[in-house]
Amino acid sequence: IKKVSKGFESKAEPVKQAAVLGAGIMGGGVAYQSASKGTPILMKDINEAALQLGLDEATKLLNKQVTRGRMDTTKMAQVLNSIRPTLNYGDFSNVDLVVEAVVENPNVKKAVLAEVEGHLPEGAVLTSNTSTISITDLATALKKPENFCGMHFFNPVHLMPLVEVIRGEKTSEEAIARTVAYAKAMGKTPIVVNDCPGFLVNRILFPYFGGFSALISDGADFQQVDRVMERFGWPMGPAYLLDVVGIDTAHHADAVMAEGFPDRMQHEGENAVDCMFKQERFGQKNNKGFYRYE
Ligand code: NAD
Repeated sequence: IKKVSKGFESKAEPVKQAAVLGAGIMGGGVAYQSASKGTPILMKDINEAALQLGLDEATKLLNKQVTRGRMDTTKMAQVLNSIRPTLNYGDFSNVDLVVEAVVENPNVKKAVLAEVEGHLPEGAVLTSNTSTISITDLATALKKPENFCGMHFFNPVHLMPLVEVIRGEKTSEEAIARTVAYAKAMGKTPIVVNDCPGFLVNRILFPYFGGFSALISDGADFQQVDRVMERFGWPMGPAYLLDVVGIDTAHHADAVMAEGFPDRMQHEGENAVDCMFKQERFGQKNNKGFYRYE
């Protein structure tokens, strides 16, 4: 871990125009956070319906700010206007930094990263919000791996202060400095970490989910486990947290962690997350996970 001291980012050119790929749970949150802290952002997805979900999420968060008296409606309209939805990479010619936040699948991510790279201006920084996939591995899809690093936000983006900035084998100091500067401009606390599956936080979080799944296999009641962890003092228990994260996302991330750390992260047979995934119970995103959300 590298502490990000004051001034580390000072040599970096500020990000004037950002872009996010994917308008899902994380993409919508990144768009809201960037726009509300003053950096305009393009939001790209594969269809209008997906883009609308991202815009709805940003609108919901802004409405909350207005209701609580923290923002007036003029400012709200201004922030919303600085999130520009698009289906077209042709709009990326003046983008300084991209946050890729599409599904947690290395092949999909590599294809998307390689495609967007061809549309960016010289010197633009490309980042991935992957939860677990190696940055050095994703960089093999790129012509300029030096301009690429991880920028890992946590969910929900507007509430979670930490951002992991991940240095791949070929990442340049300029790319790290610019990403750190953008994270700070978004009001976040960046830490610079070296590359490995799960980086830092998910190397702690995924063994915790694994422990939870093992308890369920032993016959524990998931709601009871959640109540216990809340009494322990955590804001939510593991079942509810998995519903927030997305069971599909956790399932894909679990596979990456098991491959990266076979001695520690592999489990025999199906666990609770595998079962929920098979039944397409993806959590809050489709209103059914461990809990039901209607
Ligand atoms: P999500 O399923 O909510 O959203 C993914 C979005 O990507 C969808 O809108 C989908 O239409 C879009 N997409 C798919 N292919 C695309 C393409 N080719 N171009 C543009 N958009 C495309 O997923 P999410 O939870 O927002 O996760 C996104 C990324 O962020 C993943 O890598 C995940 O691991 C990471 N992440 C997730 C969390 C979390 O708690 N959910 C936390 C940190 C990081």
